[in-house]
Amino acid sequence: MTVERLPVKPRRAKAAACPICGLPASRDHRPFCSRRCREIDLGKWFSGSYVIPAVEPPDGADLEELIEAAEAAPEADDPG
Ligand SMILES: [Zn+2]
Repeated sequence: MTVERLPVKPRRAKAAACPICGLPASRDHRPFCSRRCREIDLGKWFSGSYVIPAVEPPDGADLEELIEAAEAAPEADDPG
C-alpha cells in the first residue's frame, strides 16, 4: 500500500491583525478586518491623528532677519 505524499506547503499560522480592532484581517479588506475599520483608519488620517509632527516655523521677525542676513551675505560664487 503506497501513500503519495504531497509536499506540504507551510500555511501562514497567523493572519495579520486588524490595526484598528485587532481582529484577524479580512482578505477583502486587508490590512483591516472590515470595511468599517478601514474607514475608521481613513478617518484617523483625515482627523490628523497620523500627521507627522512638523517643526514649528520660526517667528516672522526671525524669518525676516534670516532673509536679511542671507541677502546681506556676499555671494560665494564670485565670477572672475
Ligand atoms: Zn477591525
